[in-house]
Amino acid sequence: MRKPVIAGNWKMYKTIAEAVDFVEKIKPVAAKAEHCEVVVAPPFTALAAAAQAAKGSKVAVAAQDMHWDKEGAHTGDVSPGMLVDAGCTHVIIGHSERRHDHGETDEQVNRKLKAALAAGLVPIVCVGEMLAERESGRTGEVLKTQFEGGLAGLTPSDFSRIIIAYEPVWAIGTGRTATPEMAAETHRLLRDLARQKFGEKEASAVRILYGGSVKPDNVGGLMAQEEIDGALVGGASLKVDSFAALVNYPRG
Ligand code: PEP
Repeated sequence: MRKPVIAGNWKMYKTIAEAVDFVEKIKPVAAKAEHCEVVVAPPFTALAAAAQAAKGSKVAVAAQDMHWDKEGAHTGDVSPGMLVDAGCTHVIIGHSERRHDHGETDEQVNRKLKAALAAGLVPIVCVGEMLAERESGRTGEVLKTQFEGGLAGLTPSDFSRIIIAYEPVWAIGTGRTATPEMAAETHRLLRDLARQKFGEKEASAVRILYGGSVKPDNVGGLMAQEEIDGALVGGASLKVDSFAALVNYPRG
């Protein structure tokens, strides 16, 4: 039984006060939501305060990125240990905005992933194809490359500690969502890759979230798919009411 995860990626939005206010308001919603895990990913500046506000609640706090080194001369970067120190339990790795805005490679994703696991963080590893890749029938090939490169060298036990987010790049922030069937088909493909690389037990247990313009009015259809184990949400996670509706997605 895979427990769904509803995760909000706040990107470069929210001051410290706004983040704390949001966490305070979503805590009672999360407390009642026994059907899923709830994660919010504030910007670095608000992590410690958000984690403090979330302490003892069912709201987990994720960072949006990290460096793989423990410390060092990396201006502007934040280490895994610093995230743990700030109270994070999760970290998003390989988001397409990091890959495209900052040239992050699968090899870097892999280093970050291993460092996150070593620090005891739960990595939410993002993969996803661009529009031209989908339209030219290369989705499977692109995801295989990202999966194999990003997850290289992981043991089945490492793999059992990660969450995967399938985020088609063409659906992020565009209002264009993959249909539930399209997302489910791609999740099956990812689960097959997991099966080949890590084995049946790990593949059937891994949570694969869908991300890309998930909103309160389409989350029900997506979550009704057996293959979809939750959502990684950008825009619609910024308002408490909308995020609460996502946490309480329609269940049959
Ligand atoms: C995201 O940032 O991971 C995302 C899926 O964004 P949006 O929900 O806005 O498409």
